[in-house]
Amino acid sequence: MRTTSLPVLLVLSGVVLSGLLPAAAQEAGGPFDVVLANGRVLDPESGLDGVRHVGIRGDKVALLSTKPLKGKVVVDARSLVVAPGFIDLHAHGQQLPAARMQAFDGVTTHLELESGILPVRAFYAQRAKEGRPINYGASSGWAHARVAVLQGLEPDGSLRFMLKAFGLKEWTQRPATEEQARQILARVEQGLREGAIGIGMLAGYAPGFGHKENYQVHKLAARYGVPTFIHVRYMGMIEPESSFAAYQEVVAMAAASGAHVHVCHFNSTSLRDIDLCARLVADAQKRGLKVTTEAYPYGTGWTGINAAFLRRPDWQKHMGMDYSDLTYLKTGETLTRERVEELRKTDPGGSILLRFLDPEGKPDDQALLDRSVLFPGGAIASDGGDWEVDGKAVTGDVWPLPAKAVAHPRAAGTFCRIVGRYVRDRKALTLMDAVRRCSLIPAQILEASVPQMRTKGRIKPGADADLVVFDPNTVADRATFKQPLQTSAGMRHVIVNGTFVIRDGELVRTAAPGRPIRRTVGKVPTSGRG
Ligand SMILES: [Zn+2]
Repeated sequence: MRTTSLPVLLVLSGVVLSGLLPAAAQEAGGPFDVVLANGRVLDPESGLDGVRHVGIRGDKVALLSTKPLKGKVVVDARSLVVAPGFIDLHAHGQQLPAARMQAFDGVTTHLELESGILPVRAFYAQRAKEGRPINYGASSGWAHARVAVLQGLEPDGSLRFMLKAFGLKEWTQRPATEEQARQILARVEQGLREGAIGIGMLAGYAPGFGHKENYQVHKLAARYGVPTFIHVRYMGMIEPESSFAAYQEVVAMAAASGAHVHVCHFNSTSLRDIDLCARLVADAQKRGLKVTTEAYPYGTGWTGINAAFLRRPDWQKHMGMDYSDLTYLKTGETLTRERVEELRKTDPGGSILLRFLDPEGKPDDQALLDRSVLFPGGAIASDGGDWEVDGKAVTGDVWPLPAKAVAHPRAAGTFCRIVGRYVRDRKALTLMDAVRRCSLIPAQILEASVPQMRTKGRIKPGADADLVVFDPNTVADRATFKQPLQTSAGMRHVIVNGTFVIRDGELVRTAAPGRPIRRTVGKVPTSGRG
């Protein structure tokens, strides 16, 4: 098909044309800006797994060739893997140091989609002004809109704002009135008009919100043709307020509204009920509903000390956990009931780690975690946060991070953990399947609503030159819960929009090729109210 239709393609697309011409003709335009020579190229879209020379011009992949190419810069990629850069759909850490830590993990695009943000315009403006090594973006934050309308607090675009709001009653426990719902929707829609990538729904932090409001939010998403990214309403195994019931609600919303619903961290919200939850979601997918998933490869999550699901009187029984599974991030101390009650008052926006499975200690827990991480068609996403010192996010052009900086290790190691542990050490995934889950699948989840994603997650002529070059024998996550501040190992080069951000394993500190990922600003659906 590709070769027989060549003349048509030549007419249709200059990009395709340049990709299909022989190397000699291609080089008539002079040497490539960058050539990655002799690497094992993996393209999850076409299935290509072979040694190629990759020619990059400007910010695009221009040519894949079996013959050597001339380049202004030629990088020897022999015995290294060349793959599309990793795309993180769930990156709360949107400060510059967090982006740099993720670059070492092979991430070339990181997006704050689950929580989202308000105001959206300011989010993009601030990052454009400061510069970013990797591509960035955010959804419109429904929870932020709820805090604004029901608590009268104006969102300042920070994650801290949301963490602090976790303990407030009105927005977390009450359905909105009709008028309040109208105002919430108006704020969310304003975010979409400012280019936000879909709607972030921290439903699990406001389990008391109304079902009618939920339906309205999904109708809004459908009208704009964007997904909702949801932390589902319940997180527990005991009925009726179970994780299973929460996924059932997701399925109902997708079915009735027609919106694409993306389930965030399928691992942590399914807990030990993953088998039945996975069956429900797979059944919904089989019937053609647009429900997608992501997971991170850890049995411990990160949240705010005032999270609604931890304030249930029966939370231990409901979630199959205890206070000893909670760690205060700031000090590393294991918590007790008394200490949690004290911290809720003294540090209401404080971060904690919560161990919901123990994959290192219990083989059965590893198997449960694998059910969500390896769920067919699922993406890998980190859910990582910003790096903190004494509970305050490290912001600005700070590098290296202060030695005292802490975060959940997934902020540093999620993607290399997949390639190192799941592929090489445990052989639970093929390398191609791992690359697919880290790059192509997240791009596909977004590409219907965000055209920019159609040229990401692939290596082919015309694709964005967001690329990773890594050593499959040494790639590994190094960040641990005890010592999180450790970059991943094995990423030899990371290229974003044609520019090196990691070169020979070192950060190029001045590089800021990251671009905003966003929908067309101001685009409003032409059809009537959904
Ligand atoms: Zn979440």
